[in-house]
Amino acid sequence: MSLFDRAIVRALPVVPKPLVQRLSSRYIAGPDLSDARRVVAELNAQGKTATVDVLGEEITRPAEAEAIADEYVAALDAFERDGLDANVSVKPTGVGLKLDYDLCKRNVERVIAAAEPTNRFVRIDMEDSSTTDDTLRLFRELREKGHARVGPVLQASLKRTAGDAESLPGASVRICKGIYVEPESIQFRDDADVRASFVRTLATLLDGGCYAGIATHDEWLVEQSLQLVRERRLTPEQYEFQMLLGVRPELGDRLVAEGHRLRIYIPYGRQWYEYSLRRLQENPKIAGYIAADTLGRLLPGRK
Ligand SMILES: Cc1cc2nc3c(=O)[nH]c(=O)nc-3n(C[C@H](O)[C@H](O)[C@H](O)COP(=O)(O)OP(=O)(O)OC[C@H]3O[C@@H](n4cnc5c(N)ncnc54)[C@H](O)[C@@H]3O)c2cc1C
Repeated sequence: MSLFDRAIVRALPVVPKPLVQRLSSRYIAGPDLSDARRVVAELNAQGKTATVDVLGEEITRPAEAEAIADEYVAALDAFERDGLDANVSVKPTGVGLKLDYDLCKRNVERVIAAAEPTNRFVRIDMEDSSTTDDTLRLFRELREKGHARVGPVLQASLKRTAGDAESLPGASVRICKGIYVEPESIQFRDDADVRASFVRTLATLLDGGCYAGIATHDEWLVEQSLQLVRERRLTPEQYEFQMLLGVRPELGDRLVAEGHRLRIYIPYGRQWYEYSLRRLQENPKIAGYIAADTLGRLLPGRK
């Protein structure tokens, strides 16, 4: 990223919300469940599967956490009615983790109860490091209660992740780089260290009999992951790649054409702001997009 891009990234929180919304529209299905259903159907038609995230991280009251869990239940019912190939990804703070651990657990169990009868899966997203212990505890407690179709996420940028990977044999685990900025004492800062940690963690997961969701748009990591999969002679049913809606679709198309399973992460909902900021901050061409959008509105005849 250029110095100019970095300056733009730092300034994003003061960029007017309507501009953030317009720039981030490629990353989000839309405000309503009907938007998510439409996008899932389009992706299914391209041979891709989906995981759907109901946006809502800034909740402050138990009723809001319960409403998000209700929305997940509605989404799962709709996927079944429409015959769509999709599961869900739940952010623990969206269903109440910061308010009350037990409230969060009850909400996730309600989502699982809607998913299990139709063999759908509930992924528990990983948020910032203040939530890591509780999120892994939540997963372990749910598994001990006999729920098999639930799994956590590990973040390669955290130094603790190698140890966490060893403690999850046989689980279904998504591995990603990790988006949250943490203190240097607990997080790798160097790109090469994060990549090395990703590869090491994925190898540990595969050797521990895990089903791995390989979540990255980094071509180098995709190649390394394919190498690990080939060395272990895994079949395409034993792992999957995962990507975010609107990010590097051509790389995803290539993986599908080569016979790999690909799941697209599809956020929808009215609380789009926090998610949008994170995606825009990761976009290497952010300054270009802002310039093009601003010019587009200044020049007559252009949208
Ligand atoms: C399915 C999925 C689920 C995830 N779940 C979590 C989670 O639970 N917790 C968590 O902390 N993080 C999660 N992440 C985010 C992840 O941690 C990374 O922040 C993100 O995937 C970018 O890392 P990368 O591996 O793609 O590598 P990068 O080096 O960041 O990106 C590789 C290339 O992809 C392209 N690219 C990446 N992001 C963008 C963008 N926004 N816009 C345009 N181009 C882009 C660029 O060309 C870039 O050079 C998830 C990611 C995916 C794909």
